[in-house]
Amino acid sequence: MRKICLFGATGSIGKSCIDIVTQFPDKFSFTILSAHSDIDALFELTKRYRPQTVVFSGVLEKSRWVTDFRALGVELLVGPNALESVASEAEYDVLVNAIVGAAGLKSTLRAIERGKNIALANKETLVTAGELVMHLAKENNVAIIPIDSEHSALWQCLVGERPQDIERIILTASGGPFREKPKSFFREVTVEQALNHPNWDMGAKITIDSATLMNKGLEVIEAYWLFGVKLEQIAVVIHPQSIIHSMVEFVDSSIKAQMGLPDMRVPIQYALSYPHRLPNKLPRLDFTKYNSLTFFEPDTIKFRCLQLAFDSLAVGGTAAAVLNAANEESVWAFLDKKIRFDQIPVLIEDALANHSNHKAATLENVLYSDQWAREFVQRKI
Ligand code: NAD
Ligand code: MG
Repeated sequence: MRKICLFGATGSIGKSCIDIVTQFPDKFSFTILSAHSDIDALFELTKRYRPQTVVFSGVLEKSRWVTDFRALGVELLVGPNALESVASEAEYDVLVNAIVGAAGLKSTLRAIERGKNIALANKETLVTAGELVMHLAKENNVAIIPIDSEHSALWQCLVGERPQDIERIILTASGGPFREKPKSFFREVTVEQALNHPNWDMGAKITIDSATLMNKGLEVIEAYWLFGVKLEQIAVVIHPQSIIHSMVEFVDSSIKAQMGLPDMRVPIQYALSYPHRLPNKLPRLDFTKYNSLTFFEPDTIKFRCLQLAFDSLAVGGTAAAVLNAANEESVWAFLDKKIRFDQIPVLIEDALANHSNHKAATLENVLYSDQWAREFVQRKI
């Protein structure tokens, strides 16, 4: 039985993870669950899955919840620091980090320090502090197993391969809902239009990131750290059907692709069952239903965010932490209807241009730059 600590249990990835765990009751169980804003949902999950501990990382409005959870025999811990203390002290085998944003960083570091394997959906952790995370993981002999579908695809393509045999990593991108729209349209984009993703049903922040292509930019940075390749070895290709989840080209010109229907339960299950596979009843891909799979070059002039991500990786140091934090603040502001869709890349570029980069991406420098970028963007808004 693999004991799972699931952070971000009430989100889109959290729910898919719960779905998988429910299908394999003799293989997986939850010992810890967390949520940030929906305490009712956390309570329902607690009744059903009876973890040992639950964390509510947001602000608790009514203290009676502590007693309500205790009546179920479950300890409720409150506040963002509780994620860190649970990651460092509670009993579990693997941390599934499904938190959105750089808020997932510190608890991931605590789990790695304890030698716990990480099934990582929270890409912002690697974008913000990839060097630190991978270094610590190596030191503690910890596997960072990606849940992000592209990185799970790459991970699967690389089983049995030597790092020196990789020529290129090819990340696929759906292109989002505005792939065919002219740039002039971006001024008018509404929140509702941007939240309407053609292939994937995801949390609000990543859905906006997919519409700006920042999601692919974050994934380029995530791939860079996870697979230890050079920046020039990472390519992005638009593939609107989202059937090929990503590819690896090897030095002998051979290419491996991982395919399937777009369903996050597949990479989540693989991250939990790795290095093996478990039979399931998820829908199968029928090739005869797809008479064409198409591919296009991404337009980095139209989708400025993708270019900014490549640039921040080239600059190094704390640039990616600034890119990520400025993006988070801009996306939440767009969702709150405080800024326009086309202002997102402008704010990020402005933050990157005004940031004094710290070449050494220590935790202190990363956290400082993250906070600086958030305040910078908030002031501009
Ligand atoms: P979501 O918004 O649906 O869920 C986020 C979860 O994190 C919720 O449980 C919420 O309570 C919790 N949370 C929010 N703010 C928090 C904070 N400050 N501190 C602690 N917890 C907090 O998001 P999602 O779509 O499930 O995405 C989660 C992560 O997985 C993101 O990093 C995203 O990029 C990544 N991801 C998601 C998908 C997908 O299909 N949804 C695919 C690939 C990667
Ligand atoms: Mg992805």
